[in-house]
Amino acid sequence: MANKTSRQETGGAAANAFEARVRAVAAGLLERKLDALLVAFSPNLRYLSGFTGSNGNLLITERGATLFTDPRYTIQAQEETTARVKIVKGPAVKAAAAEIRRAGVKRIGYEPARMTCDALEAVKKDLPMRAAMTPVSGWIEELRMVKSEEEAGAIRRSVETNSRAFEYTVARVKAGIAERDLAAELEYRMRKFGASKPAFETIVAAGARSALPHAQPTGAKIAGGFVVVDMGAVQDGYCSDMTRMLYAGVADAKAKRMYKAVLEAQLAAIDAVRPGVTAGRVDAAARGVLKGYGLDKTFIHSTGHGLGLEIHEPPRLGKKDKTKLKAGMAITIEPGAYVEGVGGVRIEDTVLVTSTGCEVLTGVRKELVVV
Ligand code: ZN
Ligand code: ZN
Repeated sequence: MANKTSRQETGGAAANAFEARVRAVAAGLLERKLDALLVAFSPNLRYLSGFTGSNGNLLITERGATLFTDPRYTIQAQEETTARVKIVKGPAVKAAAAEIRRAGVKRIGYEPARMTCDALEAVKKDLPMRAAMTPVSGWIEELRMVKSEEEAGAIRRSVETNSRAFEYTVARVKAGIAERDLAAELEYRMRKFGASKPAFETIVAAGARSALPHAQPTGAKIAGGFVVVDMGAVQDGYCSDMTRMLYAGVADAKAKRMYKAVLEAQLAAIDAVRPGVTAGRVDAAARGVLKGYGLDKTFIHSTGHGLGLEIHEPPRLGKKDKTKLKAGMAITIEPGAYVEGVGGVRIEDTVLVTSTGCEVLTGVRKELVVV
C-alpha cells in the first residue's frame, strides 16, 4: 500500500510520475481489449512502479497497480513504489494469478518477449474459466521512448559521469597499457565519479582488433594504430553511451582520412536529428557521407539506438527504420567504418531530441587522442 513513508523516500515528483504512468496504461487497457496487464520485465517494472528489485510482477487493472514480490524486498518495495505491495512466499507470478482470479478479470495482457515460458505456463494453469492471456508487444517500450524531464536529467548526469571517467583516465594513459587494464581503469573511475555500474562491458580494442565493433578487451597491449573505447555508465538507473578513438603512435594519411570520414558522417547524422524526421533518414545522412569516401560498405551496423533504463531500447536508427523522432527521445549517434586487418573507427555521442533539433549531451572533444 502506498503510504507516507514511501512517498517521502521515493520523492513526491517521482512518485507522481509512476502513478501517472500506471494511470496511462490503465486508461489504455480497454482500447487494447484488455482488462489487465501483467508486467514482469525489470526495466518496465521500474518504469511503471519505481521498484528496482530483481523479482517482481506488476498487475495493472483499471483500479491501479499491485506489485507482487518476495520477502527479501519487503522494505525496499515500501520505499520505492506507490503501487499496492503484496509480499508473497513462492513464485510472485502465482500470486499474480491468484489476484487475477480474485479480481475476476478475463483478458490479461502479457509481454511475450519479456516473460519466460515457465512463468506464462504457471499463470495459465491458475487462470479462471474463460480467462485468457494475450500477447502485447512493445507497449511499455513505446511509452519509454519519450523521456520526461526527470529522466533526461538522469541521462545527463550519467553522460557527465561517463565523460569525466574517460577524460580523467585517458589523460593518464600511455601506450603499452593492456586493453583489459584500460577497461578496468575506466570502469573504476566511472564508479568513483558516481555511476552505480557500467551500462555494458567496456570495449577497448586496439590495432587490427578495433575492426571488431563489439570486441571484448584482451591482455594485448596498446601498441600501434587505432584504439576504440566504447563505454557507458548507469546513474540513477539511466544509461549513457559514448565511443571515442585513441591512436597509438603517429597516424598516417590513410588513418586520418578514415577518421575524418567517420567524424563527418557522425556530424551529418547529428545535423539530421529533429522531431518528425524518420530514424532511417538520420541513418541515411551518415551512410551518405561514408559513401563519398568509399567507406559505406565498411559501416556494418545501424547509426544508433535509443537508451534510457536499458542501454539498447527503441527506437533503432537503422537503414529502413520508419519511427519518427520525437522531442524527448534519447538516442545515440554512432556511425563507424571497419576494415579487416587494418582497424576500425567509431564515434558515438548520446543525444537528446529537442523541439527544434537536438542537444548533444556528450561533451568530450572528438579529436583523435594520440597516446
Ligand atoms: Zn557505445
Ligand atoms: Zn551505442
